[in-house]
Amino acid sequence: MTLATAGLVCAHHHLYSALARYLPGPAREPQDFVEILELMWWRLDQALTLDDVYWSAKLAALDALEAGCTSIVDHHESPNAIEGSLDEIVRACAEVGVRVSCAYGVTDRHGPEGAQRGLAENERFLKAGGRGLVGVHAAFTCTDETLEAAAGLAADLDVGVHIHVAESEVDAGAADRLRHLTNDDWLLVHGVHLPDDHGLAGTIVHNPRSNTANGVGYARPARFANRVVLGTDGIDADVVTEMHAAAELCGDEGLARTWLTNGYEVFPEARDDRVLQGDLALSVIVDGEVVLHEGRATRVDAAEIRAKATEKGAALAARW
Ligand SMILES: [Zn+2]
Repeated sequence: MTLATAGLVCAHHHLYSALARYLPGPAREPQDFVEILELMWWRLDQALTLDDVYWSAKLAALDALEAGCTSIVDHHESPNAIEGSLDEIVRACAEVGVRVSCAYGVTDRHGPEGAQRGLAENERFLKAGGRGLVGVHAAFTCTDETLEAAAGLAADLDVGVHIHVAESEVDAGAADRLRHLTNDDWLLVHGVHLPDDHGLAGTIVHNPRSNTANGVGYARPARFANRVVLGTDGIDADVVTEMHAAAELCGDEGLARTWLTNGYEVFPEARDDRVLQGDLALSVIVDGEVVLHEGRATRVDAAEIRAKATEKGAALAARW
């Protein structure tokens, strides 16, 4: 028996995190959320070359296809390989046959020049016709000037901003700094520490597995007036498992399913994709093309991607 559904949408991913599976854990146990960033993710993103970005995205795109996810909203950072990084992600996803919306996460963590280079990458990519949003890491790592510049660029280009908001207590003041900048096109990721009546416009992206793993708390997204969608925050692209985690926490399976299908507001074409669940394996059809046939990618050699990603991961681990 075969069960057919539409393609799945992951509304917040970090394709650059796929190579993390090959790295040793942090040197010591992180004590809080900021240490998780400092000891793991900010260390990884600084180590990435453009080639790593490409192979990481290709591996993550393959994983996504194998999970029935056809459309990904990515949030990227590679501070030592910024220029052209979004093109590498697009190339990798296109080769595998997965849709992607890109954003470069602007931040002042690497000084004003780093923030400028991040803004420039968003601008270069979007002006060249790339599909995406203007990325911002989070208010707590940005000056007000940078937040305003990112919002201004997005408004000029008629796209939204993709930003982490109030993920942990360290960013609890985000709403007051962003309220005058947001609009309905923004993607507000997490919102764990937002007040109920935060006054921000945009779509909230709920990532319950990540929030639980990082110990930042439960966002309780049902309390917001905003539309809610689901993301995986770089864990994988298994949004069905994410939906189950959301249902477990909110106690309402129907609501969690609505959050999943709200992803079609972000990626309408995914509705026309088909995921066929056979007895043994998935097949996936994107834009009318079979890109996964009974569990096997048709456009790329999955074994080759995994071998190459393992090689890239080993090289990363050696300079870790
Ligand atoms: Zn994230």
